[in-house]
Order: sequence, then C-alpha cells, then structure tokens
Amino acid sequence: MALSGYPVICYAVGCPTPAVYKIAARWSDGLTHELKTYYLSCADCLPRLFAAALAKRNACRLAPDETLDIPGIYELVRGARDRDLRRRFDLETLFASPSRDSS
Ligand SMILES: [Zn+2]
Repeated sequence: MALSGYPVICYAVGCPTPAVYKIAARWSDGLTHELKTYYLSCADCLPRLFAAALAKRNACRLAPDETLDIPGIYELVRGARDRDLRRRFDLETLFASPSRDSS
C-alpha cells in the first residue's frame, strides 16, 4: 500500500472497514453547484447508508432557488475529483427498490 494518506473509513457507526463508495447528491442554488456528500461507505454498509441518505434527502428543506438531486452512489477513488467519479446506477437501482419478496 502507498504511504500517502490513510484509508477513509466507512461512516457507519462502529464499522472499521475502509470506504469504497461515496453516497452524494448534486446540489445547486442556481448559481453554483456541488456534490453534497452524505456518507462514505464500505460495500457491506452501502444498502443501509444509501437508505439513510435517501431518507435525509426527503427530509431536506430547500430554498426556492435550491435544487437537490436524489442521492447517488459513486465509486470512491482517492485523488479523483467529484466530476470524475464513476456513478453506479446499477447499485442505486438495486438498493432504491426495496423488494419484500421472500423467495
Ligand atoms: Zn461499513
């Protein structure tokens, strides 16, 4: 492993695993925009933290000029800029549609 920096740890309480995903939503006030980070997550905690981010997003009050997209899942790449992160629509679809099937 490289000696530059240390691994970013999953945001889930008590989880010591390095984060590999970033859960974030695009926010804008009409003038500027940024990627608002909700959580950094390891693979195991991703479904739970993504659900928590969706709940936070739904509870968020916005000013008239503000827009906040539904949170997305991005692959966390050290040193990459937000615009360069690869978005994982497949995982979002998987976790955003709770299936209550008991197969
Ligand atoms: Zn975790």
